[in-house]
Amino acid sequence: MDFDFTDAQQAFRRDVRSWLAEHVPADLRGRGFAASRGEREHVTRLRAWQRRLHGAGYVGMDWPTEYGGRGASIVEQIIFYEEMSRAEAPQPLNRSGLSMLGPTIMRHGTPAQRERHLAKILTAEEIWCQGFSEPNAGSDLANLQTRAVLDGDHYVIDGQKVWTSMAHVAEWGFFLVRTDASGAKHKGITFILVDMKTPGISIRPLRQITGEAEFNEVFLENVRVPASNVVGKVNEGWGVALTTLAYERDVLTMIRHISLRTALERLIARAKQTKRNGHTAAQDPVLRQKLASLTIAERCLQLNGYRSLTRILKGMPPGPEGSTSKLFWSQVDQELAEVATEVIGPYSQIAAGSEWAPDEGQWQFYTLLARGSGIRAGTSEILRNILGERVLGLPKD
Ligand SMILES: Cc1cc2nc3c(=O)[nH]c(=O)nc-3n(C[C@H](O)[C@H](O)[C@H](O)COP(=O)(O)OP(=O)(O)OC[C@H]3O[C@@H](n4cnc5c(N)ncnc54)[C@H](O)[C@@H]3O)c2cc1C
Repeated sequence: MDFDFTDAQQAFRRDVRSWLAEHVPADLRGRGFAASRGEREHVTRLRAWQRRLHGAGYVGMDWPTEYGGRGASIVEQIIFYEEMSRAEAPQPLNRSGLSMLGPTIMRHGTPAQRERHLAKILTAEEIWCQGFSEPNAGSDLANLQTRAVLDGDHYVIDGQKVWTSMAHVAEWGFFLVRTDASGAKHKGITFILVDMKTPGISIRPLRQITGEAEFNEVFLENVRVPASNVVGKVNEGWGVALTTLAYERDVLTMIRHISLRTALERLIARAKQTKRNGHTAAQDPVLRQKLASLTIAERCLQLNGYRSLTRILKGMPPGPEGSTSKLFWSQVDQELAEVATEVIGPYSQIAAGSEWAPDEGQWQFYTLLARGSGIRAGTSEILRNILGERVLGLPKD
């Protein structure tokens, strides 16, 4: 990859920079690296922010123009992410729709599904949630038991999902359901789109260690969903889900990495200001080594992210290599949280709402949220299994 920017790309960077300088709302600026996304009032502000980004052509930059995207090159996309980080601007709200469902429908969906859903994902008019995990199907996702039975031209769904992020504010969900229990676990699974307002769906928020309730239990009882909402073939949803999960590991990790970079830059600035024992935290010989290691790790993540995105934007399906980024990101994320508590000291534990909370309590939130980094989008143990077996070709036992 050539890292020199052309004149046109430099001009694009200037445009993005000046647009962001003018348009990032003051109440969202600087709150991008660790703030609740689950509160309804905040969701309303983030919906408006995504609409504004979309109006300027900055949402779905990698989506083809025929689906309302910009059809941008990887370089423009990277420039955009870099400028978002520089401006401390929050990411678009509809992450599951933009980075997981959208690409999945483009690949496996029908023309009618593309027509119906893609544009509203871009504008955040319809927020999506991911209904995959169940109480007994997390790492072992293929064990899922939520059942869908065909009745005329509808499927009737019964079962329970859990850890469904943003279900309480989502208009739509993409669900994995069992349509045939007779064969092997990975067979007989179907990928289906569900209107979250359908009768029979009840949503119970789960409060997390951070204090927010971003994810939920979703109960489905006699939920009737048109058979035309199936994505791909009936009983072949596992293959469709693998596409979605690969995008989650690849593109979403790149996006999470941008938040990590924003946090690291903020932390380095804090280390230069925080005084103790007559010198700043940035002059402390141990802390400066830790900050340097984090900076190197961040750079490695960036380069690996470029490699994965290049693959996707060349039209190749995401490979298992995305697992390396996700695994490494979760380690760096947790290290950063720990170093932040060392640099900032006890004040790092003060939550939002107190005048003593540094950076509006984002460090407290970050540290607690990071506990889940090694779980979401594939646990670290599972990713090591994938890398060992599918990339390195090691024996299973
Ligand atoms: C912040 C967050 C947001 C999430 N959002 C969503 C969402 O929107 N939609 C959704 O569907 N899900 C979501 N999840 C769920 C997530 O995908 C699961 O938590 C994850 O897949 C792990 O499943 P589990 O919690 O059932 O743990 P389990 O699978 O029960 O694992 C428990 C422990 O056992 C280990 N383990 C399990 N199997 C093996 C093995 N074969 N080898 C070695 N170790 C193993 C795991 O690594 C883990 O440490 C979210 C999770 C988090 C933390």
